[in-house]
Amino acid sequence: MVAAKAVRVASGSQAARGLYDRIGEFLVDQRLDPDPANYAFAYQLLANPDGPLARAVHMLTDGGVRLTRRDIETLGCDAPVAGTATATIEKAQGLVAQTQMQVEGFQDIVTAMRADAKDFGRDLEASAQAMRRSGGDDLEVTKLTATMLERVRYAEERLETANREANELRTKLEEARDNARKDPLTGLANRRAFEEAYAAEAAKGTRMSMAVCDVDYFKSVNDRFGHVVGDRVLKALGEALSDTCKGHLVARYGGEEFVVLFTGLDIKAARDVLERARIAVSAKRYRLRETDAPLGEITFSAGLSPAVQGEVFGTVFHRADQLCYAAKNGGRNCIRID
Ligand code: GH3
Ligand code: MG
Ligand code: MG
Repeated sequence: MVAAKAVRVASGSQAARGLYDRIGEFLVDQRLDPDPANYAFAYQLLANPDGPLARAVHMLTDGGVRLTRRDIETLGCDAPVAGTATATIEKAQGLVAQTQMQVEGFQDIVTAMRADAKDFGRDLEASAQAMRRSGGDDLEVTKLTATMLERVRYAEERLETANREANELRTKLEEARDNARKDPLTGLANRRAFEEAYAAEAAKGTRMSMAVCDVDYFKSVNDRFGHVVGDRVLKALGEALSDTCKGHLVARYGGEEFVVLFTGLDIKAARDVLERARIAVSAKRYRLRETDAPLGEITFSAGLSPAVQGEVFGTVFHRADQLCYAAKNGGRNCIRID
């Protein structure tokens, strides 16, 4: 009995040891630092060698190509990427959910207390009237009742205020939760919201294609006009993309990169919309607000790829990203599609 248990423990620890060794080999082969993000990625990959993440990695590394940190970040696994805002956002959202539950509990209490106070007030009022009708001249009792009624009214007012404050707090918490999915500069959806939207549409089996759009020579805008103007350009670009891709989710993926999730369109129709967006942006004549000096042409290059049923986010994103690089190499201000 003890021996059998010992064998089971030994074989369990052997399996763990094997997994640990494979993770080490993978990190060395891929020349990845053994930091928590890479380690967690390797664990998810090797603990489930037939899963979608493993398939996506196999496609990328076929032919001996090494994974980059960007590949790991975009493959969309749940690995905690060290130093990114994701962990912070998740923590904040946990707190928001917790506080929201507390507020809801508090509101229930307040509602119950208010009902009690009302009943109590009504009873006291009825008793006072009965005493007056019976001609009772017990002045002390009547006075006491009046004082108590006053107190009840005051308590009701305070509860009313507390209830109003709880409602305001709830609205603020809802706003905070929305903000966790919003890019503060452009007001567009952020990377997290975009990835969630992809997952939700994929679960419904929606026909989708994804565009990765990267502003051309954006560093030179910053260099010539400063970061503040660069920020304004990004904002204007986000608006232009949202206008031209109406009905589809436009998000700021990071830096000067925007992504679009086209839903319910075939790849040609999606390309037509994106092409109209590209032309509209490049036709705009951006000017410096203060001096009206022209900023020069602002353009973007884009890669567009259809999502195949069951594909994880990172696989589609990677394809669109590679196509975007191809568009850069092809002269910029153009679109490449699969
Ligand atoms: P390419 O055509 O090859 O994409 O050239 P690029 O200059 O756009 O690309 P590069 O990656 O060299 O530079 C991107 C620049 O975008 C560098 C970075 O300072 C700037 N950038 C990233 N995020 C922001 C931001 O939030 N505001 C501003 N103003 N600039 C940003
Ligand atoms: Mg870029
Ligand atoms: Mg760029």
